[in-house]
Amino acid sequence: MAKVKVATAWLDCCSGCHMSLLDVDEVIVDLAQVLEFTATPITDIKEFPDVDVGIIEGAVSNEHDEEVARDLRAHCKILMVLGDCACFGGICAMRNLFDTEEVLDRYYHTESTVGDIIPSSEDLPPLTKVRPVSEVVKVDCFVPGCPPNAKAIHYAISELLEGRVPVLPAEMMRFD
Ligand code: SF4
Repeated sequence: MAKVKVATAWLDCCSGCHMSLLDVDEVIVDLAQVLEFTATPITDIKEFPDVDVGIIEGAVSNEHDEEVARDLRAHCKILMVLGDCACFGGICAMRNLFDTEEVLDRYYHTESTVGDIIPSSEDLPPLTKVRPVSEVVKVDCFVPGCPPNAKAIHYAISELLEGRVPVLPAEMMRFD
């Protein structure tokens, strides 16, 4: 039987959701029998092939994030968003309370331990308002949590393998 092809991407995030994906423990051995991970931050393959399932972690916070989200959406049949940042903007969306100059100054000047290193605008992808992925592309499946519970990730993937779009039970909507 052909394996289900999966590609994943991380946008504005802490990578905790990908860590939670790996945290399904020994179940990952079973999943490896039926899933083929193609382009992911873990495999470090940069270009998305056509896949069955795309998974995005992180919010859309700049033009590059938006390009990646649109690119993966164009290459997958089903798009799953993983974690509160991807589902709702999460902690990344706190940046929306401040203007861009204030944020860059705080990050690269006030809090910098190596002196003034404010990059020029050419060095950074233009920042946008922080948005959940669903404000940019169509999303088929939401798996919230910060990070999502490994059981919820396993459940969502298992449902997809059965040909169903997963609807998570309420008790899986939290981390424990
Ligand atoms: Fe990190 Fe939480 Fe955002 Fe996932 S949802 S990327 S764990 S901050």
